[in-house]
Amino acid sequence: MAALNEVRLPLPAMIGEVLWMSAPIAFTLPGRYVYISRSLIEFCRSDAPVAFALAHEIGHHDLGHLERADRWLAPGILTHTPEKLALLALDVLSRRLYSRELELAADAYALDLCQQAGFDRKECLRCLDILTHYALDHHDLDGVYGSDYELEVDPEQVSNSIDRVYIELRLWFARHRRSHPSLHERRQVLLRRIAETAPPPRAFTPRPS
Ligand SMILES: [Zn+2]
Repeated sequence: MAALNEVRLPLPAMIGEVLWMSAPIAFTLPGRYVYISRSLIEFCRSDAPVAFALAHEIGHHDLGHLERADRWLAPGILTHTPEKLALLALDVLSRRLYSRELELAADAYALDLCQQAGFDRKECLRCLDILTHYALDHHDLDGVYGSDYELEVDPEQVSNSIDRVYIELRLWFARHRRSHPSLHERRQVLLRRIAETAPPPRAFTPRPS
């Protein structure tokens, strides 16, 4: 986060907060905080994919995607528990704020920011691999239950807050498979961006004989 903030100067620094959640996920809310789950960090084998996850969320701030959300959220949000924060973010932001265009814009911004901060861009894309593995796990379950899952499961019926977060996350992924660009597409778009902005190969210089 320090490396990303340095190249964002003079924009105000963002703060990364690690949440103890089992789903590999990152999200943000109005304010200066970007949230990332401990499990996402644990799946990453280097700093680059973590940087990309954080930079994507930073991108939503720097590109002005959250400006409309300010009025929906009450002050004092940081006193909430991680579960409540996650629910709030998933409920408010995922349905009303995120769209295909905003996601792709945040991805492109993140890739550029990571490059400026010295991270290897292809290594950054490992973040999408991790999210893909997780989504595939869930996709297998959806393959069994189909879209009935969204119809049959009601988070309001669950009293335990952890169960509720789990169901909300499942619903979040189910909904986002439709409204978001697929992880495969995000990866292809970013690979194209890397190829288009790659430095030209060095000319071969013969050794003096
Ligand atoms: Zn996003």
